[in-house]
Amino acid sequence: MTRRRRPSPSHPRRAVAPHFTREGRPKTPYRTQAEAAGAAQLAWTLHRAELDTYRCDYCHQWHIGKRFRDE
Ligand SMILES: [Zn+2]
Repeated sequence: MTRRRRPSPSHPRRAVAPHFTREGRPKTPYRTQAEAAGAAQLAWTLHRAELDTYRCDYCHQWHIGKRFRDE
């Protein structure tokens, strides 16, 4: 039996923002950058959506999304 530790809820929200969609749902995790890139390519083909791939600090997998601007 494995227990999963929940991350502390006191995390600043912006620190985990790249892990969530704008609706607040967790994004699809990809195990490799190549998988994420494939999904981004598909989004471009279907929707002309220009998406970046990035490594998530929260779950340590890859997501696709618009690049975050942090000024
Ligand atoms: Zn993540």
